[in-house]
Amino acid sequence: MIKPDKPANEAHRLDALHRYRILDSEKEQTFEDLVTIAKAVAGTSMAAVTLIDAERQWFKSVQGVETAELPRDASMCGHAILSPREVMVIEDARLDARFHDNPIVVGAPGVRFYAGAPLISNEGLPLGTLCVFDSQPHQLEPDRAKALAALSRQVMVVMELRRFALDIQQHMQERDDYERLLADYHDVLLAQNADLAEQSRTDALTGLPNRRAMAMALDAAVADTEGQPRQTCVALLDIDHFKRINDFQGHATGDRVLAELGRLLRGQFAGAGMAARYGGEEFVLLLPDTDLRTAELQCDFLRMAVADLPLGFPVTVSIGVAAHRSGDPTDRTIERADAALYRAKAAGRNRVETAG
Ligand code: GH3
Ligand code: MG
Ligand code: MG
Repeated sequence: MIKPDKPANEAHRLDALHRYRILDSEKEQTFEDLVTIAKAVAGTSMAAVTLIDAERQWFKSVQGVETAELPRDASMCGHAILSPREVMVIEDARLDARFHDNPIVVGAPGVRFYAGAPLISNEGLPLGTLCVFDSQPHQLEPDRAKALAALSRQVMVVMELRRFALDIQQHMQERDDYERLLADYHDVLLAQNADLAEQSRTDALTGLPNRRAMAMALDAAVADTEGQPRQTCVALLDIDHFKRINDFQGHATGDRVLAELGRLLRGQFAGAGMAARYGGEEFVLLLPDTDLRTAELQCDFLRMAVADLPLGFPVTVSIGVAAHRSGDPTDRTIERADAALYRAKAAGRNRVETAG
C-alpha cells in the first residue's frame, strides 16, 4: 500500500477545512441527497462525501457501507485530493500498486472500483471528495465523470452556505451577548448615577443633606400643606463665634465641631423633618406639621443639646425660626428665619428668636 502524500499546501488546507466547522457534525439531509444522486449517476452501490483531516478521513455522508472515518493513510480520497482538478478513477483497485493491498480492498467492504471528485474550497484548496465506489470493477464514462465533478461543486456550494449560516448564527449570538453586556453596563451606570445624585445631595463633612436637597424638600413640604391647616416651620441655626473656634483650636477642630453637630442634627431629625447644612457653619431645619410655638420649643431643646455636646470646650448656637406663610416663596420664609437669627445674635447669642 502506498500512503498518500500530503499536499504542499497542507497547513492552509487544514485551516480552510476547519473553518467550515463541519468535521464531526451531525448528518444533514442535503449531503445525504447529493450522495444518493452521486451513487445513481455512477451506478455504484456505495458513495460518500468525505473530508480529509490531518490524520483521518471523515465521512459527512456515506451510503452502502457503515463507517464514520478511516485512517488517512488507508484512504483512497487522500490520493484523489493530490490532483484537485481531476476526477480520480480506479477501475479495479486490485490492479493498482497504491491500493492492491489496502485494508478496504483486501478486507471489507472489498472495494474494487473507485472514483473521487475533489471538493475544492473557493481559495482552491482540496478539502475532501465526493466519491463513488463499488465491490465490482467498473468504468466511468466521461459524461458521468463530468456529472460527478459537477455534483462535487454542488457539495461545495452547500458547504459554503452551511458555513455562512453558522457565521450568521455566531454573529447573532455575539450580538445578543453584546446587547446583554450593554444592558448590564447600563444598569451599572444607573447605579452610579444614583450614587452621584445621592452625593450631590449630601454634604461630605456632616453627612447631612446639602442646601440643594433642602430646597427641594422644603418646596415639597410646602406644596404638601398648601391649602391645609397644617403648618411648616423653617429654622436657621448658626454656630456662635465659630471663627474663634477655628482661630484658637485650629481648622481641624472646627471641622470636628461641624461633624459632631451634623451627627446630633441627623439624630434629631431622623423621623420627621429634615436638617441640612446651609453653608459654612450654618444649618437649616425643616419642621413640617409644626406650629411656630412648638418649633420654637424644639429649637430651644436643640440649642441646649448643642451646649451639652461633649466637645471639650463650650459651643453654642443661635437659631431663628419662621412659620411658612401660605403663598410665600420658600426663599422668603428663609429670609424671615435669617432676620430672626440676626436678632438672636444681636441679643447676645445662644438663643432662639422667632419671626413675626
Ligand atoms: P457669629 O457668632 O456672628 O456667627 O460669628 P462666627 O465667627 O461664627 O461667624 P463668621 O461668619 O465671622 O465666621 C464663620 C467662620 O466659619 C468663618 C469660616 O472660616 C468658618 N467656616 C466656614 N466653613 C467651615 C468649614 O467647613 N470648616 C471650618 N473649620 N470652618 C469653616
Ligand atoms: Mg454664619
Ligand atoms: Mg457663626
